[in-house]
Amino acid sequence: MYRPALSVVIPCYNEAACLELLHARVAAAARAAVGDDHEIVLINDGSRDDSWAVMQRLAAQDPRLVAINLSRNHGHQLALTAGLDLCSGAQILIIDADLQDPPELLTDMRATMAAQGADVVYAVRRKREGETIFKKATAAAFYRVLDRVTDTPIPLDTGDFRLMSRRALDALLSLPEQARFIRGMVAWVGFRQVPFPYDRAERHAGETNYPLGKMVRLAFDAVTGFSTAPLRFASHASVILAGASLLLLFYILWGFFEGSPVQGWTSTMLVVTVLSAVQMFVLGMIGEYLGRLYIESKRRPLYLVADIAGPVKGHSTLGF
Ligand code: UDP
Ligand code: MG
Repeated sequence: MYRPALSVVIPCYNEAACLELLHARVAAAARAAVGDDHEIVLINDGSRDDSWAVMQRLAAQDPRLVAINLSRNHGHQLALTAGLDLCSGAQILIIDADLQDPPELLTDMRATMAAQGADVVYAVRRKREGETIFKKATAAAFYRVLDRVTDTPIPLDTGDFRLMSRRALDALLSLPEQARFIRGMVAWVGFRQVPFPYDRAERHAGETNYPLGKMVRLAFDAVTGFSTAPLRFASHASVILAGASLLLLFYILWGFFEGSPVQGWTSTMLVVTVLSAVQMFVLGMIGEYLGRLYIESKRRPLYLVADIAGPVKGHSTLGF
């Protein structure tokens, strides 16, 4: 199988307004880094705008561009998986389509990789431009909570923007799970991984495709994929609640012997509602894991391809 020196993998959802400039900048950066021996893999994740038409046009102009049209919107992590699965480069750059991550950093990232003998160079956000305080705050909180609950150390403030070696990518592609949190899975894979600090730019055009709902889902995938701590919450809670009920028992007995037994339904209602909330929460957590187990057990392909424009050189192991 032919292996270009570099593959640039870019998942795209409603990014028509970014694609031309994206292609120009990525192609220039790739050429500056490795010359013509590269491929650019664009994945159209069921966009509702004319991203696919633009991709086909670009693919007709640039023989190094491969455009993959997924059968529907599979979500960012699966679209990225499709691109990683079908690319064939010896080094792989993952980058967002909206130009928030400057492709020009490629040369420096390759230099870091070579100098440090690394398999993964992951870009760490020093600054984030043009994002709301809410997004920045939730993102910051998310990475810190994740760091506390997971057993795999997942680097803070790190998105999917990274450069990987082929052996690290092959290791990543050997993980078959449906619920994919790729930046965590890459961390899990190991090898030598080094950070690369950068300033995150504003979106070039369009708007974020990660509204609150999708962020929460990603967060759930991250936590359930890398930790079973929420399942242990029930046992921790039971110890605390057992202690609390013991204190309550003493209090009630004391009132009883003093001749003024505790009265009223306020306390009863409080205990019932608090305990139901805790129980529902624990049930919900079990449900999350059970649901994921069920989905995994179906072993469906991770993504489905509808059309391909340009020369695909990789062999799929995860999709169809
Ligand atoms: N994306 C995708 N499928 C989706 C949502 C997003 O392929 O369902 C792509 C999107 O085109 C972009 C990347 O994932 O290249 C990151 O999305 P976005 O920029 O909207 O997220 P943010 O940077 O706001 O976190
Ligand atoms: Mg973005």
